[in-house]
Amino acid sequence: MRVCALGSGSSGNALLVEGPEGPLLVDAGLPWRELEARAARAGLGLTGLRWAVLTHEHADHVRGLDPLLRRGVDIAASAGTLRALGIEGTVVKPGIEIAGIQLFPFAVPHDAREPVGLRLEADGSRIGIATDLGQITDGILAALAPCRTVVLEANHDVALLLAGSYPWPLKVRILGPEGHLANEEAGRAIRTLGDSVERVLLAHLSEENNRPALALETVARAVDGWGGRLYLTYPERPSVVIGA
Ligand SMILES: [Zn+2]
Ligand SMILES: [Zn+2]
Repeated sequence: MRVCALGSGSSGNALLVEGPEGPLLVDAGLPWRELEARAARAGLGLTGLRWAVLTHEHADHVRGLDPLLRRGVDIAASAGTLRALGIEGTVVKPGIEIAGIQLFPFAVPHDAREPVGLRLEADGSRIGIATDLGQITDGILAALAPCRTVVLEANHDVALLLAGSYPWPLKVRILGPEGHLANEEAGRAIRTLGDSVERVLLAHLSEENNRPALALETVARAVDGWGGRLYLTYPERPSVVIGA
């Protein structure tokens, strides 16, 4: 498998995973023409796309859903996410196989109906995906532990968020246990996972409350001594394509 963040952040999230039987989309927060253009720019394609998995129903993850449905793309998500969106789809249960990839959903603390992170397994390789989470739990660490490639939220720098222009209730929501993960917390999680994780894509960076260089620097400091490699994701363009 290979994975690329076609776009990441509150303006729209979509990951493209290349599996043994073609592409799989994780989240659909970008319009179809953007998905196509960015996949092409990354050297990937959407040809043969039959499935999209959604992590939760927030707008930045489902804004591009209608064009997918019109194209006959099948949707998989938790029962709660499907209900919240009012759509039919396949409920993701541990071990379900989609596009030749086995999916293992796990609960994440976030203020949506039934949000999930995902571990994807195919051909002996594993990719862990955890964005939109207020805190790291033992369950999340256990789900990510077998993965050499992880997509992990590094949403904000706490000092930038506190000093920034967001209204206080929104700051409280982001900082809270069902909000978003700070750079520092992402770094601590990677340090706990240790050298079994080799590559981490830092995702869902806030354009208001974070800076790419600051996220990299803060996480790198927190993981001190870790042997893996960090990569950035971007709101307006695809990330590098990394193997699993
Ligand atoms: Zn989000
Ligand atoms: Zn969300």
